[in-house]
Amino acid sequence: MKSGRWLLWGALLLLTAALLSVLVFLAAEYELSRDQAQLEEDVATVAGDIRSALLRNVQTLQSLHSVAPSPNAWNAPASELLQTHREMMRLEWRDAALQPLSVRVSPFTPGVFDFLGREQAQPEVVQACEAARRASGPAYSASYFWPMRDGKGLELIEMCLPVAFAGKPQGMLVVTYALSGILTELINRDLMRGRGLSFNEADGTRLAIFSAIPANRRNLRAQTVLDLPGHTLILQLESPRRARGLFPNVLTAVVGLLSLALLVVLFLLGRDIRRRQRAEQDLANALAFRKAMEDSLVTGLRARDMSGRITYVNPAFCQMVGRRADELIGSGPPAPWWPPELVDEYQHRQEVRLAGRYFPREGFESVFQRPDGTRFPVLIIEAPLIDAQGEQTGYMSAILDLTEQRRIEDLNRATFERLQATARLATVGEMASLISHELNQPLAAIASYASGMLNVLRDPGVGSLSPEDQRHAIERIAEQAERAGRVIKSVADFVRRRDTEREAVPPASLIDSIYPLVALQAKKQGVRLQIDIDPNCPPVLCDRTMIEQVLLNLTRNGIQAMPMGDPPAGSGLRVLGIRVARASPEPALSPGRAGPAWVSFAVTDHGQGLSPEVAQRLFTPYFTTKADGMGLGLSLCRTVVEQHGGALTHQPAEPRGTTFRFSLPVTPI
Ligand code: ADP
Repeated sequence: MKSGRWLLWGALLLLTAALLSVLVFLAAEYELSRDQAQLEEDVATVAGDIRSALLRNVQTLQSLHSVAPSPNAWNAPASELLQTHREMMRLEWRDAALQPLSVRVSPFTPGVFDFLGREQAQPEVVQACEAARRASGPAYSASYFWPMRDGKGLELIEMCLPVAFAGKPQGMLVVTYALSGILTELINRDLMRGRGLSFNEADGTRLAIFSAIPANRRNLRAQTVLDLPGHTLILQLESPRRARGLFPNVLTAVVGLLSLALLVVLFLLGRDIRRRQRAEQDLANALAFRKAMEDSLVTGLRARDMSGRITYVNPAFCQMVGRRADELIGSGPPAPWWPPELVDEYQHRQEVRLAGRYFPREGFESVFQRPDGTRFPVLIIEAPLIDAQGEQTGYMSAILDLTEQRRIEDLNRATFERLQATARLATVGEMASLISHELNQPLAAIASYASGMLNVLRDPGVGSLSPEDQRHAIERIAEQAERAGRVIKSVADFVRRRDTEREAVPPASLIDSIYPLVALQAKKQGVRLQIDIDPNCPPVLCDRTMIEQVLLNLTRNGIQAMPMGDPPAGSGLRVLGIRVARASPEPALSPGRAGPAWVSFAVTDHGQGLSPEVAQRLFTPYFTTKADGMGLGLSLCRTVVEQHGGALTHQPAEPRGTTFRFSLPVTPI
């Protein structure tokens, strides 16, 4: 993936570089061909200039003859002509046999024909004049080298022109041109700046040079043929190649810059695309992560738009309500999971909730129905759905199926109740021995009265029993039986009562109902009961059976904490105190609740007290120090008291022992 991308970038760079070099090359070639074309145009211009100048010269020479028909008269204007035409070396007027009639030499180069005699050039003169005669017009000889005295030489060319006066031939006019003179005098010199102009031979040998530039293979060269009657000369114009930098011209530079800009833009684009890809990848990852999270959630998620129509559900929600996502999405109120008879109520509830825009953090409970009709409790926690622009687009809800929680709660309740029943039975079991002891007395009394009566009835002679005595005895029996019945009834009442409703109970009545049992225990242990109930105590709101159980547990523990001999019988400490009074609420428990809206129950014993280890583990279930103890009493007591909104505390009593205290809320009026 990555190497592929670098390969692409490499290819792009290579292509751009190739494009640039082709462009540079083409631009250079274009410039070259343009320069070459310019050079060729210029050399043609130069050739044209020379040709027309030579033609003008011919006309001037002809006019010379028309004003000066005799050799003597001719001399002066001929000399004058030579002064104005430096390209001409010599002017000769020759007769028909080509013998000189008059000769004028250029004042600028007088010694040209000093070293070699003029006759040496006779063949060229003859050649030119023959041609002129044939053409009856100007004709040129071939060019030839003319050595001079100082070792130098000149390339010369003869031009022969038949002359006539008044229609009569007057011989020939021969002009000797120096090729270098032609170049110097007859051209526009401005064109030649920085260039080399020369007459060449066909093989490239230079015959005459006007200007030269350093020889270089790369110089641009243009040649043209200077066609003269009788002879042809090759004119060559040379120009050095223009120097070039890295980008030889603006076009290349601009294209280069544009390519560079293109590359930069491509690079930026590539980076942007890569960033986008990365962002997309991240987004996809985040989405996958979110999806996995939603799929793995056991909490149902549901999103609704502002009109209450469902826009999203997660698998847990679908599973919860037993419907497919595509069935649910788009469906609006009434929702398909609302129990039919509650639709109106739910609809109303939803409207109120959405209108008030109030979404309680702790959520609210509801009941949903599956397509098969089964119902289940749910907890719904709702929150507004805010989009990226901060606008609310709907509502998001998390839905918890409470079925399991309810089941566990029920189970806990059942377990607790079972435990309570067990603890109660244990208490009752414990009581049984006390009851049997208590019943012994009335039963023994009944038995003795009954047997006394039987004896009298069986054998009237044993003793005389007045009817009054008999009635008295039977009354005693009835009395004792009633007493026994009361004992049994008090126990039966206690065991049988199973109401779990909270009710307003006067504290005194609570103490009254446990009193017989506590009194039995206390009596057995030789403990005196000291009961102190504030008569102004208002009724408390409680589950009577449970609170009686708590009081029984605490009093039993208190009595058991004072075994026979500890504290000693005469110490006055064998007392179990039960105190009921109005109390301020526990500040930590009910902050803000003012006034004596509580009633506190305190059970004080004067036993050994609690050692720190025992105190620490007091409320741990199954913790006991007694051989036959179950260790459930205090933990149950605490649970019950806390269920009533109070707290069970303990503190050392004076001068010894422990006080267990709990409070119950007063019934609101
Ligand atoms: P059990 O009475 O069956 O042992 P409890 O939960 O009622 O179970 O009591 C746990 C333990 O707490 C007792 O075994 C005892 O050691 C200690 N305890 C409870 N009440 C008192 C008390 N009034 N004085 C001293 N120790 C106490």
